[in-house]
Amino acid sequence: MQSSIRAALQALDKDRPRPGLFTPRKCKMCGYEAEHFDYCDFNKACNGYEFGRSGILVQYFRCRACEYIFTDFFDDWSSEDFSAFVYNSDYVKADPDYTGLRPRQMARSMATVFSVTKNRLECLDYGGGSGIFAEEMRSDRIGFQVYDPFSQPDRPDRKFDVVTAFEVVEHSPSPVATFDEMLSFMEDDGCIIISQSMQPDKITEERANWWYVAPRNGHIGFFSDTTLQRYCESRGLTYGRNDSYLLLYRTDNALHVQEIKKNLGIATYRTVLYAPRQSFNTFGEWHEVEEIDGRSYRWSSTHKICLGHYRFNQGMNTIEIPVAAVINDDILKECIIWINASFYRATWQNGKIQATFMNSETRSVPVLIATGKPIIPAELGLNSDTRKLGFAVPTGD
Ligand SMILES: [Zn+2]
Repeated sequence: MQSSIRAALQALDKDRPRPGLFTPRKCKMCGYEAEHFDYCDFNKACNGYEFGRSGILVQYFRCRACEYIFTDFFDDWSSEDFSAFVYNSDYVKADPDYTGLRPRQMARSMATVFSVTKNRLECLDYGGGSGIFAEEMRSDRIGFQVYDPFSQPDRPDRKFDVVTAFEVVEHSPSPVATFDEMLSFMEDDGCIIISQSMQPDKITEERANWWYVAPRNGHIGFFSDTTLQRYCESRGLTYGRNDSYLLLYRTDNALHVQEIKKNLGIATYRTVLYAPRQSFNTFGEWHEVEEIDGRSYRWSSTHKICLGHYRFNQGMNTIEIPVAAVINDDILKECIIWINASFYRATWQNGKIQATFMNSETRSVPVLIATGKPIIPAELGLNSDTRKLGFAVPTGD
């Protein structure tokens, strides 16, 4: 890195008042608390340290609720700052495939995803840069326009059957606004196809050593299934993915969405889990079945509860646990679901606990949930109940 560029970058960085090092930030995706995750050098690119080290550290945070990882380093950058320090003439060295190879590969890959309906579709490549991908698709007689806030800022004033966004969302300093804007271009019976790398299973071990955490590539935020499921839930969308592509849609009534789902091999499943009816009580975690107004349910009595064995299909699975009552608001605030020894953050909203996970093979596995510590209402003077109570779940009958 030229010393003049380093000095300019340092000046840019120094001018900005920042919250303390370990002060939690507000998650840019869900608004919950995000805590310090790791640092890396500004010059870290996906392909390593092509430009040496800058000596300027970029701090990343991870949300305790939705797992989104992000930095606020670029939050007050102008487009001129981005053009000067990230998307400059050296950018191609940090991302050599950007100029042609990747868009052409994408076009070849997408040509197999759009099949019978392809020539009837109107599509938008969002963040499509120089437009190579859209050009390739048009040569295959698939209607594609490009919109890129940076390089092709003429905003289309219509909606599209399919919106694609390849290697886009991880570059956004305000991801919800970016997703919402993509959504504003999607027809109600359309879909959004996204490609970017998802957080790996061992992200909490790899941290910023993960190759994709690369400020020099302009990589600002990183998603997990929980992050995206939570966003989709808030917008009435279904979320699914395979190893390469993410798919967001409101309905799969339209033929082209069914076709894209099938060709991408994306299957989504939803399973509702209930308190076990029988005296299934691995840790003594359930109180006896109680009846209220003809509805039966059980209170949890420990912070670790087994829900029993469930069979999950291969593909994207969302599980839902209806909650009849909670002893206080904190009990389910940061709960975790264990599925066959892997754990996933769960969200609690609209009267249900939810978690999403990718299942590699159809199988029957145990499901456990970890919550906050149950309390004894009588000790707190809430009522005369002397049992430890956490949350109540209906039994499945
Ligand atoms: Zn979050």
